Amino acid sequence: MEHPYLMTPGPSPVPAQVREELAKEMIHHRTDQFRAVLKETAQGLQYVFCTQNPVLILASSGTGAMEAAVSNFFSSGDKVITVVGGKFGERWQELALAYGLKPYKIDVEWGDVVDIEKIGDLLKKDKEIKGVFATLCETSTATVFNIEEIARVVKNYQAILIVDAVSGLGQDKLLADEWGVDVVVSGSQKGFMLPPGLGFISISEKAKQLMAQSNLPKYYFDLKKALKSYEKNDTPYTAAVSLVRALAKALEMIRKETIESRWEKFAKMAKATQAAVKSLGLELFSKHPASSVTAAVVPLGIKATDIVKKLRSDYGISIAAGQAQVKEKIIRIAHMGYINEQDLIMCFSLLEKVLADLGEKVNYGISVKTLQEELYG
Ligand code: PMP
Repeated sequence: MEHPYLMTPGPSPVPAQVREELAKEMIHHRTDQFRAVLKETAQGLQYVFCTQNPVLILASSGTGAMEAAVSNFFSSGDKVITVVGGKFGERWQELALAYGLKPYKIDVEWGDVVDIEKIGDLLKKDKEIKGVFATLCETSTATVFNIEEIARVVKNYQAILIVDAVSGLGQDKLLADEWGVDVVVSGSQKGFMLPPGLGFISISEKAKQLMAQSNLPKYYFDLKKALKSYEKNDTPYTAAVSLVRALAKALEMIRKETIESRWEKFAKMAKATQAAVKSLGLELFSKHPASSVTAAVVPLGIKATDIVKKLRSDYGISIAAGQAQVKEKIIRIAHMGYINEQDLIMCFSLLEKVLADLGEKVNYGISVKTLQEELYG
């Protein structure tokens, strides 16, 4: 497809200005020129993360930064809480087990958010709990979690709060310092308008103290080493030079627009998308829909993957089906990063066509009209 439209919840589109950075001639990473780029990205990341804490850049996808969060702050046998309401909450659970932690798993119905009392009760009952793992935007269910409330509870205990904001950051509001989130993990290919390949992780003072005690094995993702380098605007190993330069450009674009106006813009796009979904007679999957992505329950008798395949093959538009047990039950349309209002209008106009092709009775234009009214009305 000559001009593919990426409306998936990651990877998401990369603006031309950012792609130009990727194409630039290579420079050496141990130079003043590159150290200046690292300094600039460090400040830009703090801005997006809403924190004064250091935000490290790792050469990995988001999962690498998640793994670093587990291996750097804990020791074998440490008790933690994992909030599991979808595929990415499950990833926290799997990582905790892989590193020999003892997780109290709080299962949340897919599409819902966690009952804060369950976290509070566990923390009250077991004072040895060292960490709470949660997710800002659970991409598999298109749900935004109640991180501010979770932080308010966790703050009163020795445990640190670690939030996977891989898909949510930049669209779904997260005030790391103001709310008291100790560790925020993200990745390059969603809200940051970059290709996949970078992971980000912010570290609070409280988390640093746990880091000093951690006995879990680590080498490439040793954040103590990374922090030491960070203080000198450097990286322990060869930096992903091109991606970091592209990051500097993307951060410049985000700062220019301001994070607050981006939260507002995506909240509006999300609301419009939700209304468009309903106008087609479809239900939203999530009880707490995110600003980053919307999940719609597909009509009875139609497979989500058939909708996705047809949109891609006939029109070059990529959206996502569900994951795991809801694979065929939902479609997910992203509004994150560089995706804009026009993309949504185009996506829905052709989604209508694909639904009609698959046998649904469609009132042509209804979802486009709804979007226009919500966005421009
Ligand atoms: N957490 C969330 C919420 C995500 O959406 C994703 C990516 N879909 C990940 C973690 C994993 O990130 P990556 O694929 O970059 O490793």
